[in-house]
Amino acid sequence: MDRKRIAAALALPPFEKGWVWLVGGGPGDPGLITALGLHALGEADFILYDALIDEALLKLARPGAGLIFAGKRAGVRSCKQSDISALLVDLAQKGNRVLRLKGGDPFVFGRGGEEAGVLAKAKIPFRIVPGITAGIGGLAYAGIPVTHRDTNSAVTFITGHDSGGKLPKLNWAALAAGSPTLVLYMARKHAGEIAAALIAAGRRPDEPAAIVANAARPNQSVIVTSLEHLGQAAGASPAVSIIAIGENVKLRSQLDWLKHTVRELSPT
Ligand code: SAH
Repeated sequence: MDRKRIAAALALPPFEKGWVWLVGGGPGDPGLITALGLHALGEADFILYDALIDEALLKLARPGAGLIFAGKRAGVRSCKQSDISALLVDLAQKGNRVLRLKGGDPFVFGRGGEEAGVLAKAKIPFRIVPGITAGIGGLAYAGIPVTHRDTNSAVTFITGHDSGGKLPKLNWAALAAGSPTLVLYMARKHAGEIAAALIAAGRRPDEPAAIVANAARPNQSVIVTSLEHLGQAAGASPAVSIIAIGENVKLRSQLDWLKHTVRELSPT
């Protein structure tokens, strides 16, 4: 089916000039982009994309669209958040259709709220297109259901560092007691500290934990460990990793669907 037919069949809104769409690209596998995200890619005049975006998605831009890298990459100084927001405003004010393409979901630890706030202040019309966040879709690619009736009736998403790079000031005792599953983003550096705080608050040292690196990408790797060994294992894991702590991690031994299909997903 071509793009126009999909847009008509799903009643997708037009991408109007002077608008900014903040779009979630999903956790890795480019096939996880939403229909709205795909539609936006084909219409945008400018695409500002993050480091975690798969290049296959950028190939779907319409010919002549401006592709602007606006993220962090090893060895390259990261773009300043204020510069990115200012560029979004400037391009939209000049009448362009501006697509801000972010990894995962734009409103989950992705600064989408900050960028949308700047647009709102500048009276630029914008749309939020949610994406599949790494803490849900990335775990699914590791065969770990983020919730399961037998293991956890609640889940908490946590960032491992605040805007200053420090461990966020959270009530770890309350989290330990109240949330059977914890999903940690950007937590490689502080994973040991977090695990220690949870154990000190009564969580079992042998509770299962998983580190899913490069989730939903061809080089995905999964380490299953325990809370007491989490810090050490996280320190040795690749940079882009999501961590799950809880009994639901055990379900992977049964539900690791990817290992059966790995040949189709891998480029080699
Ligand atoms: N908005 C994004 C999160 C951005 S914060 C989302 O909703 O997924 C960046 C962090 O997300 C990374 O440090 C890592 O902890 C996690 N992450 C994003 N993509 C990932 C992937 N493919 N595999 C593992 N972790 C990922």
